[in-house]
Amino acid sequence: MIPISKPLIGEEERRAVLEVLDSGMLVQGPRVAQLEEAWAAACGTKYAIATSNGTTALHTALLAHGVGPGDEVITSPFTFIASVNSIIYTGATPVFVDILPCCFNINPDLIEAAITPRTKAIMAVHLFGYPCRMEPIVALARKHGLVVIEDAAQAIGAEYAGKRVGSFGTGCFSLYATKNVMSGEGGMITTNDAEVARKCRMLRAHGMERRYHHEVLGYNYRMTDLQAAIGLAQLMRLDEFVARRRANAAYFNAHIRNPGVVKPNAGCACSDCASARHVWHQYTVRVLNGGRDAAVEKLAQHGVGTGIFYPIPAHRQKHIVDMGYGDYRLPAAEQAAREVMSLPVHPSLSEEDLRTIVDAVNAL
Ligand SMILES: *Cc1c(COP(=O)(O)O)cnc(C)c1O
Repeated sequence: MIPISKPLIGEEERRAVLEVLDSGMLVQGPRVAQLEEAWAAACGTKYAIATSNGTTALHTALLAHGVGPGDEVITSPFTFIASVNSIIYTGATPVFVDILPCCFNINPDLIEAAITPRTKAIMAVHLFGYPCRMEPIVALARKHGLVVIEDAAQAIGAEYAGKRVGSFGTGCFSLYATKNVMSGEGGMITTNDAEVARKCRMLRAHGMERRYHHEVLGYNYRMTDLQAAIGLAQLMRLDEFVARRRANAAYFNAHIRNPGVVKPNAGCACSDCASARHVWHQYTVRVLNGGRDAAVEKLAQHGVGTGIFYPIPAHRQKHIVDMGYGDYRLPAAEQAAREVMSLPVHPSLSEEDLRTIVDAVNAL
């Protein structure tokens, strides 16, 4: 079976981990500092702060901006639940705005109607590695005095209008094992704001700047040097990884010819998408006419693994409904949840794998 994702682990990663083990310094140390510097450089930001995972990056970033009880945070219902849970952890209320059918990201044209006097932040999720339409989002945030948080967990290296994601607001990344650049578990926050960076550093280490002087309620959200060593080896190969994902996606775009399968960004009329550069964390198609679940089974019979990201939109998840946050009708997100299917697009696919995937999709 061709897996939906596969981490590329080479000699560099092995050597880097052994070096840390041999150093005897396993906790947050020089490797974390190096990874932070390299990550900031990769995103074009002044600062990067490593955390234990993408969820704690989001939680820390929200807290650093003062998001808390009584606040509302606008986000997409079509995302991994961590985006939404991180808002709930702060005591704030998630407010869902429907998505664009072409790219599955939040629809900027619908955001303003959801802004209330309680709105504190907009969390833009760059889903599947495709950047949100940041120009209208940043303009709305300026107009209403809102914070912009980017959930860029799937999108390291993606660009919009010539700028890397994570540099438009406060960026949050994940280095979970299936992400484009991974460390097993890991997270990163990017910002150009020195005060936000300082608060994030405090929050991830029990609220202390001076040892055992705790100024605010913080957490243990630190990354270890073992993880950072893997992440560094991976980040050095970012351009290569992205180039391979782009080549794989270009192959699918050129060769998938099945009228029942809608390719990514098909029919997109957004004026600014020409400036967007995808990093293809997922290559996600829509299967029309209620055929999605049968397609998943048929592809599996042909040895092609698939993923459904995501089968239930956030506003329909049980815990969100139970908390009373789910009273929405968001037709574009609901339709996407019924139709989406992601194909393997990761860098370790062979030419034969690509042909197998295309043939199987065209035969659906
Ligand atoms: C992976 C992911 C996260 C959370 O990252 P973890 O490292 O798994 O905690 C958050 N948001 C999105 C969109 C993700 O894909």
